Amino acid sequence: MKHSPNSPILLTSSLHVNEARKAISDLVEELIQESDAIGDPKDIEVVSLDLAIDRILAEDLLSPIDVPAADNSAMDGFAFDGACLDTSNSEITLRVVGTAFAGKPFEGKIHQGECLKIMTGALMPAGCDTVIPQELTSAKEDLQIAFQHSQLKRGENRRLRGEDLLQGKPAIVAGRLLRPSDLGLAASLGIASLKVRRRLKVAILSSGDELRSLGQPLDAGSIYDSNRYSLTGLLNRLNLEIIDCGIVRDEPASLKAAFCAAAIKADVLISSGGVSVGEADFTKQIMQELGDVGFWKIAMRPGRPMAFGILRPVAGKNPARKTLFFGLPGNPVAVMVTFYQFVRTALLQLNGANQTEPPIMQAISEAPIRKKPGRTEFQRAILGRRADGKPTVKLTGSQGAGILRSMSEANCFVILGHEQENIAAGDWVDVALFDGLL
Ligand code: AMP
Ligand code: MG
Repeated sequence: MKHSPNSPILLTSSLHVNEARKAISDLVEELIQESDAIGDPKDIEVVSLDLAIDRILAEDLLSPIDVPAADNSAMDGFAFDGACLDTSNSEITLRVVGTAFAGKPFEGKIHQGECLKIMTGALMPAGCDTVIPQELTSAKEDLQIAFQHSQLKRGENRRLRGEDLLQGKPAIVAGRLLRPSDLGLAASLGIASLKVRRRLKVAILSSGDELRSLGQPLDAGSIYDSNRYSLTGLLNRLNLEIIDCGIVRDEPASLKAAFCAAAIKADVLISSGGVSVGEADFTKQIMQELGDVGFWKIAMRPGRPMAFGILRPVAGKNPARKTLFFGLPGNPVAVMVTFYQFVRTALLQLNGANQTEPPIMQAISEAPIRKKPGRTEFQRAILGRRADGKPTVKLTGSQGAGILRSMSEANCFVILGHEQENIAAGDWVDVALFDGLL
């Protein structure tokens, strides 16, 4: 395998972000194909709409009805037969013969010279194909209204049956990461539950002798384990099943036991810490016994060291079981950046999502940014707006990989590409918004 510990990819001193992404995506695709390797991520569940948010739709959702189900008015106004627009070229006067409300249709027919007062969403009465908005009319004596014929064309302000969606056509396509609007759309079709991919089981653990759990006292040199909390937050955004495997000490037997126990329970194991120079050799040995894992030096900042591959924990009942493994760097910001850049995409791909990449936009840098070519950088920033309405970005203070506050205060990454050099104030840069993602 390309990503195996003895492979050329490992020996490359620095792996381009895109090469890493490609290697991850290829391996995930392999896993999806070997459906019995991993507890099949293609398994389907039926869930009610209120539980379907952020799940992945397993099959196209076909509309059981035409939407709208009948012609109706797009405006509050007066419905009439638009034929008179073709014949008249001045003011048109019509007599109002009744009213139609949404949910309370007018049963009669409208004849020439007549109109019906109609509310938005009310069914178009027989004999009518056009609606003049109320504000374009003037009231006349004897329940009459008048308007200039030049103000609209025949057929305007009417929504046609099936215009949004025809019966039998896909309302939502398979692979959609379901958003609030999708739940509303399904409900508008009378559908109360959806077929979705099962939730992936994702185990997380932190490694490091210096780490303490919340509630424990901090002795000299120790720090609180924050990575499991940012990872939990990130994974919750994807509506996954999280298996928290706690903190593991930097000690071979404990590490091996913990990795093995976590991998047996999960489709994917995400660890943090223990992959940087100095510690990697130690972890490498364990990974060689448990699976096929590459230790990468990625040309990116933050997040340079990362381990990635397959673990094959020896599970009595299912010896073929394979668990996707991400060994993220320990630095708290690097954890979030590598999650965003590699893990999120892989989890979505494994779970059958058809769109796995977060959207990228551009904004104007408010200040110069130093950048060396030869690595991809993810700087934390705040997206704002200039007086002329153009989007701007400003970095959030000190950008060290351990400074979680730079992430907490930011609402986006400025992504500086591999070849990119220094940025001048006023240059356009790529930006990825955190909102809903991180
Ligand atoms: P490592 O990758 O294990 O060398 O860790 C790099 C840096 O990240 C060190 O300063 C660690 O103390 C810190 N670190 C590692 N794991 C965690 C964690 N779970 N929470 C907070 N900081 C961590
Ligand atoms: Mg460590």
